[in-house]
Amino acid sequence: MSQLHYKTIKELSGSLAKKELSAVELTKAFIDRAEAVEPKIRAFLSRDVEDALNQAKASDERRLAGKSLSDLDGIPIGIKDVIAVKGQPLTCASKILADFRSPYDATVTLKLKESGAVIWGRLNLDEFAMGSSTENSAFQKTANPWNLDCVPGGSSGGSAACVASGSAPGALGSDTGGSIRQPAAFCGVVGLKPTYGLVSRYGLAAFASSLDQIGPMARSVEDAALLLQVIAGHDDYDSTSIQKEIPDYRTTLSPGNKEKRSLKLGIPNEFFEKGLDSTIRQSIEEVIKFYKSLGYETVDISLPHTEFAVPTYYIIATAEASSNLARYDGIRYTTRSKEAKDHVDLYFKSRGKGFGQEVKRRVILGTYALSSGYYDAYYLRAQKVRSLIRQDFMEAFEKVDAILTPTTPTPAFRFGEKAKDPLSMYLSDIYTISVNLAGLPGISFPCGLTPDGLPIGCQLIGKPFEEADLLSMAYSFEQAHDYLDLHPEL
Ligand code: GLN
Repeated sequence: MSQLHYKTIKELSGSLAKKELSAVELTKAFIDRAEAVEPKIRAFLSRDVEDALNQAKASDERRLAGKSLSDLDGIPIGIKDVIAVKGQPLTCASKILADFRSPYDATVTLKLKESGAVIWGRLNLDEFAMGSSTENSAFQKTANPWNLDCVPGGSSGGSAACVASGSAPGALGSDTGGSIRQPAAFCGVVGLKPTYGLVSRYGLAAFASSLDQIGPMARSVEDAALLLQVIAGHDDYDSTSIQKEIPDYRTTLSPGNKEKRSLKLGIPNEFFEKGLDSTIRQSIEEVIKFYKSLGYETVDISLPHTEFAVPTYYIIATAEASSNLARYDGIRYTTRSKEAKDHVDLYFKSRGKGFGQEVKRRVILGTYALSSGYYDAYYLRAQKVRSLIRQDFMEAFEKVDAILTPTTPTPAFRFGEKAKDPLSMYLSDIYTISVNLAGLPGISFPCGLTPDGLPIGCQLIGKPFEEADLLSMAYSFEQAHDYLDLHPEL
């Protein structure tokens, strides 16, 4: 049972089914692994060992009674600490929620529980999912398992590092502008941001509601498909979740048929301009060659409004954040300052002490963008540009079936390298952000290593609700390469 921690969900689920191992043994193995590597990685904000073992025990009992719920039954899954798990802490990596426990389950948590998964720990992130390195967490900095001096990316850095370091075979993250795909790329795992509306946001602490989506992070494409299968689907509790039949993502993984192989892949020239690291460029060119060798046709395309994506995002996301975060006021359920003179002072002191710098910066920026007199110049204009960005993609999708790009302009950077310069930090999402603005699905999968041994991610962007295409394309790359067998030395 050596190296259990680097096995895929599929492999582990096979071992459980064959009764080579019990869910309790499996869960213990991940508990021990986390115990061993967490002093270096610091991916978890909270771990409830007893609760995880109880869930595993219940799974074993179901299996014994022949009542296993799904392939996920008995598999430990980590949860980004911005997704509600009943009775457990939900801190959003913020001091303002340091003592908060969730009274209910998010819909995705409930769905995982109903599939028998063992909910294992809450994972670190940039405070309220605002950031690209997880350095904005109020509690700890998570290290990149491939190089402990580097960031794991963000904001779902805890989820990515947890999977990459073998403390869980899969995790959930959330992606508002790249927060699943960018850390997946930095840590050498697979991360999928679903089409807006495919996965319920009920129980996800809101950052920017028109952009946020929960998605899977896993070691393999098939595992990501398995997790997506469980969490996708309509939810009455989220009015933006779509009524749509969910395909069987796993049976469509292998193309098997000719049509898939004649898919057209768009290569947007704006994503290969200055600022792209040369090793990443080379790696992505290899991926393009690979798809050509399979028979895919590649088409040079243009997404002309790409240059406006980052500024547009930072108007819309901060505007929505300023409104969403107004609820953390120290009056209701968040930490209340005890030193306040009157109620206005109470807001200032509670929010002033409770929120970190980046969160305050965004609340101020967003409030300004929405204020009377500036609304038209900033927010309204940003919404118009957002439509143009979506239109670019929709026009491209008349010519191609999917779009291939690097996930990030650079590999994982060092702690502190960008922390002092918010603009350079914001640019690390330059290839992922427009996908959220357009509401499209995007996947990042490992496609190389730099000479320094840092993972490189390739991004595929799909038509709305065509996650199955992305998964199957990423799967064919994964099957033909050996990135699944590469692990960080820890
Ligand atoms: N890094 C981007 C930001 O700071 C995206 C974050 C996210 O996707 N949650 O807003």
